[in-house]
Amino acid sequence: MKGVILRICHLYPELMNIYGDRGNVIALERRCAWRGIRVEVSRLSIGDPLDPTSFDLFFIGGGQDREQMLVCEDLSSEKGAALRQAVEEGAALLSICGGYQLLGKSFLTWTGEYLPGIGLFDAETVGGDTRFIGNVAVRCTLEGAEGILVGFENHSGRTRLGPGCRPLGKVVYGHGNNGVDNTEGCVYRHALGTYLHGSLLPKNPLLADWLILQALRRRYDLEALPPLDDTLEEAAHRAALRLTREERGPLRSLRRLAAR
Ligand code: GLN
Repeated sequence: MKGVILRICHLYPELMNIYGDRGNVIALERRCAWRGIRVEVSRLSIGDPLDPTSFDLFFIGGGQDREQMLVCEDLSSEKGAALRQAVEEGAALLSICGGYQLLGKSFLTWTGEYLPGIGLFDAETVGGDTRFIGNVAVRCTLEGAEGILVGFENHSGRTRLGPGCRPLGKVVYGHGNNGVDNTEGCVYRHALGTYLHGSLLPKNPLLADWLILQALRRRYDLEALPPLDDTLEEAAHRAALRLTREERGPLRSLRRLAAR
């Protein structure tokens, strides 16, 4: 794919990076490089201005409440508005856990701090007295990326979605958004929020390619991406799913739950 360039903006890489979240950016870079797509990665942090027209794909990882407070303040500047504008104009975005929470409307931590979000997602998060920790499997309902996603969650926040966005999928194993309504993550235009750490994208290549394709379509007329040999990625996916199943129950439960 000669002449095609993907411009990635990695937000707050040193503050928001739990359980190898930055591996998501590496996976995006590699999957592009294997297809001959040039990738430019810009890392923006506290105080750096954000030009909404300069990037095709944004990434923000997870973080503890303390880091989230710093990032929350920075996003409340024009940076949050610029990020919203970029998504409205077609940019793709992946946000994980603490990053996902800050892109919603608000996060009230368990210790009572109120963190206003940028309102990109119609979602509100409230901290709980226990943490949701463990391997997760999700039946992804995103058009073009349907299948089982695997990952790892560790959060106290319970997120409820409003009518302005839809879930990324249904929880098969684990807790997802709130442990109650069976939803996991959220989708608004080409922006995704999810609780799945891991790193997520190396072992969920379908989702990685969905993001790359949506991001490139912002500036290029593309039908699809050339397929890759995903033997290793699929093995990693199977291994993660096996681990989840061993922790949480037999395969027939997975099939039954996945059909819900
Ligand atoms: N601090 C947030 C919570 O506990 C997010 C944690 C994370 O990103 N893993 O809900």
